Amino acid sequence: MSSFSYRNGITSKGVGVKLDNYTSKSSSSFKSKVQSAGSSIRRSSTGSVGGGGGSTKDDSTVSGRVRVAVRLRPRNAEEMVADADFADCVGTAAREFASQKRVYEVVAKPVVESVLDGYNGTIMAYGQTGTGKTYTLGRLGEEDTAGRGIMVRALEDILAEISPETDAVSVSYFQLYMETIQDLLDPANDNISIMEDPRNGDVSLPGVNLVDIRDQKSFVELLRIGEAHRFAANTKLNTESSRSHAILMVHVKRSVKGKHSSLSSESTGKTLKAPIVRKSKLVIVDLAGSERVEKSGHASKKMSFGNDNALPIFQPIFFVIPKVDLMTGSEGHTFEEAKSINLSLSALGKCINALAENSAHVPVRDSKLTRLLRDSFGGTARTSLIITIGPSPRHRGETASTIMFGQRAMKVENMLKIKEEFDYKSLSRKLDVQLDKLIAEHERQQKSFQDEVERIALEAQKGVAEAERNYADALEKEKLKYQKDYAESIKKLEEQWAAKQEKHGHRKVKVGQADDGIDQKSNSELPRLKKTLQNETLLRKAAEAEVNNLRNQLTQWKKAEAARNDEISNLHKLVENEAHQKATLEEEIAILRSQLLQISFEADQTRRNLDTGRNGELSGSLDSLIPQVKHQQPKDSGDGEKASMAKLFEQVGLHKILSLLEAEDADIRIHAVKVVANLAAEESNQEKIVEAGGLTSLLTLLRSSNDETIHRVAAGAIANLAMNEINQELIMSQGGISLLSLTAANAEDPQTLRMVAGAIANLCGNDKLQVKLRAEGGIRALLGMVRCRHPDVLAQVARGIANFAKCESRAISTQGTKAGKSLLIEDGTLPWIVQNANNEASPIRRHIELALCHLAQAEANAKDMINGGALWELVRISRDCSREDIRTLAYRTLKSSPSFQAELKRLRIDYG
Ligand code: ADP
Ligand code: MG
Repeated sequence: MSSFSYRNGITSKGVGVKLDNYTSKSSSSFKSKVQSAGSSIRRSSTGSVGGGGGSTKDDSTVSGRVRVAVRLRPRNAEEMVADADFADCVGTAAREFASQKRVYEVVAKPVVESVLDGYNGTIMAYGQTGTGKTYTLGRLGEEDTAGRGIMVRALEDILAEISPETDAVSVSYFQLYMETIQDLLDPANDNISIMEDPRNGDVSLPGVNLVDIRDQKSFVELLRIGEAHRFAANTKLNTESSRSHAILMVHVKRSVKGKHSSLSSESTGKTLKAPIVRKSKLVIVDLAGSERVEKSGHASKKMSFGNDNALPIFQPIFFVIPKVDLMTGSEGHTFEEAKSINLSLSALGKCINALAENSAHVPVRDSKLTRLLRDSFGGTARTSLIITIGPSPRHRGETASTIMFGQRAMKVENMLKIKEEFDYKSLSRKLDVQLDKLIAEHERQQKSFQDEVERIALEAQKGVAEAERNYADALEKEKLKYQKDYAESIKKLEEQWAAKQEKHGHRKVKVGQADDGIDQKSNSELPRLKKTLQNETLLRKAAEAEVNNLRNQLTQWKKAEAARNDEISNLHKLVENEAHQKATLEEEIAILRSQLLQISFEADQTRRNLDTGRNGELSGSLDSLIPQVKHQQPKDSGDGEKASMAKLFEQVGLHKILSLLEAEDADIRIHAVKVVANLAAEESNQEKIVEAGGLTSLLTLLRSSNDETIHRVAAGAIANLAMNEINQELIMSQGGISLLSLTAANAEDPQTLRMVAGAIANLCGNDKLQVKLRAEGGIRALLGMVRCRHPDVLAQVARGIANFAKCESRAISTQGTKAGKSLLIEDGTLPWIVQNANNEASPIRRHIELALCHLAQAEANAKDMINGGALWELVRISRDCSREDIRTLAYRTLKSSPSFQAELKRLRIDYG
């Protein structure tokens, strides 16, 4: 329990401290000089943020005097005994007992609140050893909650106030002894230096442990550890706690809600928000004992003794000097050491004096303590100073000088300032995350790019390898062929040579033998030889005669044969004439039959009309029909025939004509097909024919008939109908392709083949039917027909191929489908196409030129086209084609195909 008085703005109700003689003099001056600053701190943070600078400092500041409270410790046990006969040197009449709670609330709480608002704060206890500095500041109060000191209570308030998500509290705890700073949380760390920010003079201790505090329990634990270390360290140094200054630094970082600085980032175009944070620092300083150090080397001078010759103001009234140091056995510091021990404290005194007197020079740099407390006295912090004194009259001197210190400190004026700054760390963290994201993204993109490049390179390699293989194969084949040829010719030569040799050899042998004979038996053999020679000569003559005879015979035979041949050719001509006449006659018969047909229909109709009693129409119909029949008789070619057909069509009725396609009589059938074919040539009739089932009948006829004429005419009719798209689908759906293919396979007549090819060629021009047409053998059928070399047939085949190729290339350009290899190439048309690309017949050539250009549109065809020689045809077309449009088309096609370009480049052909 202690008496407690607080002066500086806040007046405690009962001023409990009465220092005899002293307080009466000075209390009025205290009051008059102290201005109230505690509750009226103007929030000065109006900093405009967003400029280029670093931390923003407020221009406006608040003045705040250092506030000083005096705490009187009650008598302790020793004093009870030792001072039993004396009255306290401090007046006891109106002693007030101040609890720890009240001391905290009056002295410390305003500072703590300021710290939470963003100001720096200092709470410092000054007083003689044993007067309760540590009790006031550092008591943990674990055994008794009410006994908790300022440190514990301050942290409790701070932790309760901040929000854990955005704010942070960290703590360091160190002591200063003989100008050496030692970390109380890590005592091995005992030579820590003070850093000063040259821009704003802020001091920091980078070497000291800074511990994040999340809860009260861990803080109390930390204090306990610090206190234990302080005790242990000082025992080791052979000194005691009272000689060192213990300093607890609490760093509070709070983000200012709703306040951000906007930095626009050039690279992302985004605005990055750096939160604004307030950083404040609460420094709680438990100073070394304020008693003077004697020259004698008695470093510690405690409450218990009181040899105070340094106090001019108070004379010892009740002065007893016990000879025994009751509290410590420590001694033996040299004077230099002693000076050093108290250097910081006396420097603090000097600074406070200088500040109190508004002196121009404040010796802040004289000691580490004053450097550390630069902001606490005459700086920007809110500062409270607790002066602790004891009641014993034996220490009157010390007590008085202690109070003098407090009095001077009261005159020190601080300018409170809030420090706000951008939270660069969190901004930098954000940017780091963003950067990492971008780096990762970049890496991914680079990887996929490399993959793509590798893939393309691999493909290219494959292509090259394949081409090389093909080339090597071809080369090998050529080589073998040449070797074979060579071997054969060698063999032939050898045979020839052998034959020659044999001839020569034989002769030689004969001659040789004769020579020998002459040599050996010339006399005896000679007459016999002569005879033999004569015989031989005779025989030869006879043979020659025979040969002549035979020759004559042969000449005669040949003459006879020539005569016979003439006769045969004459006969042939006769037969041809006959055949021609027969054909003419047949035509005439056919026409006559059709006329007969007409008449019979007419008769039918007339009969029917008669039956139904429509007599009036009969004579008209008959009349009109007869002259026509007559008119048709003489000639039946060209327009005349068509016109008559049309009439016939109108008069007889389509259904009737179509029904005749199935007539028993072959001639009638043939004639009916011709009629339908002629009708189908007229576009206007086509729809009607199909509607009436004509197409189906024609197809049926193709299937069922074996007659080539019927095949030819029916195919012609189908070809005509196949010009129309709807009919094309009908033809396909009724199995037309296989029928036409079959017809093509069996046909000999070029005209039949021309019709069939024409029909298929028309179907080839339908985009929708491509796949089906191919599947049902249409392309193969076309290709099969080239066996007939008739140019008309070849022209239709070429047209079909061109139509098909055109549809394929159109599909690529309109649907953008990934083009596969052309079905034409799949079905083996390419060799024929290449062979005929320069066909002398221009219709064939034109169709094929176009087909090549269309095929070249699909890259999938390129390889086959290159291997099949189509590339050269395209090159030739692009250079030599007489039609400029085709020439240009071929040129563009070549230019736009990467494969062709690559091949031309590979062969070093300058194309451009
Ligand atoms: P200092 O730190 O100033 O040397 P201490 O805080 O160690 O002094 O106090 C010395 C002794 O006095 C301790 O035993 C402490 O418990 C006791 N003491 C100090 N102040 C009070 C008080 N207000 N009420 C009761 N006991 C006190
Ligand atoms: Mg102490």
